[in-house]
Amino acid sequence: MATAKANKKMASAAIDLPECPVCMETMLGPIFQCQSGHSLCIKCTTSLCPPICPLCRQPMTQMRNWQLEEMISKAKVPCPNKTFGCVYMMESNDVQDHLKECIFREMDCPLGLVFGRCSWHGKLKEMMDHFKERHPLNCNVNTDTDVELNNINVKEDDRYMYLISQGKLLFIITMKIDTLQNMVYWTIQHIGSKAVAHQHVYEIHVTSKQDTRRKIVFMEHCFNDALKADEVFRIGKCGIMPLNMFGHFIKDNKMSFRFFIKRIPSSCNKEKKSKGDTNAKPQNDNSGPKGFGQKGAGNKGPGPKGPGPKPQGPKKPFKQHTNN
Ligand SMILES: [Zn+2]
Ligand SMILES: [Zn+2]
Ligand SMILES: [Zn+2]
Ligand SMILES: [Zn+2]
Repeated sequence: MATAKANKKMASAAIDLPECPVCMETMLGPIFQCQSGHSLCIKCTTSLCPPICPLCRQPMTQMRNWQLEEMISKAKVPCPNKTFGCVYMMESNDVQDHLKECIFREMDCPLGLVFGRCSWHGKLKEMMDHFKERHPLNCNVNTDTDVELNNINVKEDDRYMYLISQGKLLFIITMKIDTLQNMVYWTIQHIGSKAVAHQHVYEIHVTSKQDTRRKIVFMEHCFNDALKADEVFRIGKCGIMPLNMFGHFIKDNKMSFRFFIKRIPSSCNKEKKSKGDTNAKPQNDNSGPKGFGQKGAGNKGPGPKGPGPKPQGPKKPFKQHTNN
C-alpha cells in the first residue's frame, strides 16, 4: 500500500500535478472545496456520503477551486502512449490532437485505409516490416533509383503508394491519376507529427520517357499523415501536372520519376523545437539525398507563430527545368 502511494506520488510529482489529499490520485477538475477550504478531487467528492470532508469533518460545499482547475488544465501531462515509449508532454487539452499523430499509437495499414484490402494494424515501428512482408512492391523504392511504373494509362483513375524510410522516419509517397480533374498528383507525407513533417521538403523529378530533355521538378513541404493525400491534392500543395502534359512523359505505357526528401536545417525550425517527437528526430542530415544540393536550405517551415519572414516555399506548384 505504502509503495503504491509512493509510486503515485512520484508519478504525480514527475508531471507536476497536484494530487487529491484523500485518494492521492492526480487531481482532475471539477474540484470542490469543504467549508474550511480543502480541495478534493471529483471522484472523492461525489463518493462522500454524507458530504463531509474526510480531512476536517466540515461539510463539503459547491465552491469550486477555479485556480487549481485552471492550473491543472494547463499542466503538462504525458502522452497516454508513454508506456510504449512516447516521451511527449503536453497540456491536457492537446492530448486528443497529439494522439492523432503520436508515432506510438496503434495505426492502420496506409494501403488498407486507401485500397481496403489490408486489415493490418500495429505500431509505426512495425509498419515497414509489414510492408516488406505483405506489400513488397509498395516499399522497395529509394532515392537512388527511378520509381518505374508500367501499364500507365491516363484514361483511367489510378493510385500508386510507396512507403519510404529515411533515417528513422517513415514517409509515404502517393501518385494519383485523376481523370475527373484531368490531373496527375504527387505528394510525400511524413507518418508522424506535423512538426517533424514541417521540417522536411521533398522533390519529385519527372523525366520524359520520350525525350530525356523534358523534365519537371516539383518541390514542396511535407504534410503529415493526419491529412489525407486527397486533401493535399485538393488544396494543391503538391506536385500537379495536367494529364495531357503527363502524356508526353509516358512511352509504351511506362513512366518513371525520382524523389528526394530533405530535412530543412534546424535553424529554420527553432520555433518548432518544443513540438516535435524528440525521440524520432534524426541527429543529422546524413540521410539526405544526394544531388539535392542546397535547394531546401532557403525554405522555412510554415509556422503559425513567430514574426520572422514568411515561408519562402515555392509559390507555384511546379517549375520547369530549362535545359534545352
Ligand atoms: Zn480524491
Ligand atoms: Zn476539510
Ligand atoms: Zn505520444
Ligand atoms: Zn497492409
